[in-house]
Amino acid sequence: MIKIAREEPLWKRTTFRIGGPAQTLAQPESMQELCTLMRSGEVHLILGGGANLLVSDAGVRGMVLALGPEFGLMEIKAGSEGLARVEAGAAMGLTRLAGMAMKSSLSGLEFGFGIPGLLGGALRMNAGARGGEIKDITESISVVTKEGRLERIMARDAGFGYRSSAFPEGCVITGATLLLREGSGDRIHSTMRAGYLERKASQPLDLPSAGSVFRNPPGDFAGRLIETCGLKGERIGDAMVSPRHANFIVNMGAALANDVYRLMRLVEKRVSGQSGVKLEREIKLAGVFDEE
Ligand SMILES: Cc1cc2nc3c(=O)[nH]c(=O)nc-3n(C[C@H](O)[C@H](O)[C@H](O)COP(=O)(O)OP(=O)(O)OC[C@H]3O[C@@H](n4cnc5c(N)ncnc54)[C@H](O)[C@@H]3O)c2cc1C
Repeated sequence: MIKIAREEPLWKRTTFRIGGPAQTLAQPESMQELCTLMRSGEVHLILGGGANLLVSDAGVRGMVLALGPEFGLMEIKAGSEGLARVEAGAAMGLTRLAGMAMKSSLSGLEFGFGIPGLLGGALRMNAGARGGEIKDITESISVVTKEGRLERIMARDAGFGYRSSAFPEGCVITGATLLLREGSGDRIHSTMRAGYLERKASQPLDLPSAGSVFRNPPGDFAGRLIETCGLKGERIGDAMVSPRHANFIVNMGAALANDVYRLMRLVEKRVSGQSGVKLEREIKLAGVFDEE
């Protein structure tokens, strides 16, 4: 029987530690259960690691789908010419996957070490860091469409862009085939460590957040524009523009989703007023937010 929870608090499942309940949370544990759920037409939101998500205080009406552990497996297959194919499930943590690749001396996923969330979310967002993006090492992606059909999409057809993709609307990503290169375990380890230290020095990792709130506009940095407006430390309730990294909003303890949302709008207005740049949101909103 499909595992279903009612009025499940979503704050526990987001890195912001914010958000009301899911009316129902379904956790399919097999492909068959997943296809049945998708065919029901009731799935309203697909939840990965919740690392790029702001869930409203009222939560999400309808069904939220979170892939069960069955979708979190990985297998390394021998390739040719120094390449290895890695079949990984969408519910596997990206950092865990990067760590496993390192242990097998496979290079290509170094950038992913330290990016919170799951492989499915990383593919949906085309997650990246330090010049690497998940699209660069992806050969193909498996999805289940909203009609409940399992399909394989080649990476070149997934519409990957800067922190974006164009998978068929409403589909759930179930896994991917990644292409990694045989490398030196020591070198992979030191690249990951350098990335981690850089992250630790520049990001407020001690407080809950959802990473960068806005995309970098072409040729510029959202953080620089926000900082120039003097917004570091700006606060609404317990939501604050991080003094360490202006493109992060942090939860100081009891922030409401609405506090974060109002702060985002304030940042958007100030940056647009002062520099003329219309910031685009990188984080995804789920549920209903008060418009001002
Ligand atoms: C401290 C911190 C640092 C961060 N640093 C980086 C960084 O360096 N680079 C970077 O790119 N991001 C970064 N992020 C943002 C976040 O880690 C990435 O966007 C991550 O890839 C989101 O994955 P997730 O599984 O948490 O997705 P979620 O937040 O759960 O979901 C994000 C979107 O993907 C959709 N989705 C999730 N899973 C699936 C699926 N299986 N099928 C279909 N759709 C799905 C959701 O519906 C939603 O629209 C950071 C976040 C934090 C908190």
